[in-house]
Amino acid sequence: MPITDVTILSRCSHCRQLISETTVKKDNMRLMVSELVWCESCGAETPEVREVEGRQSAVEAERATYPGNPAVPDLSAAEYRRQRGSGRVS
Ligand SMILES: [Zn+2]
Repeated sequence: MPITDVTILSRCSHCRQLISETTVKKDNMRLMVSELVWCESCGAETPEVREVEGRQSAVEAERATYPGNPAVPDLSAAEYRRQRGSGRVS
């Protein structure tokens, strides 16, 4: 079974405070929203922004949609060294 559930993090667009966390089917994923949510940190209703929890998981979920691919290799360590070595910050 492919991974079809994703965790969506809703954050305050002003201060990035985590408002809520929901798990939805990937097919039902909506990242573009224009709803106001109550942010306790700001003490106001602010536009909500959504993101998928963990970019790496998103990449893995994406790759899982390609048939015949081997398991996702552990790129994080190599990626980390590459970024440190070149001084780049992605
Ligand atoms: Zn806020």
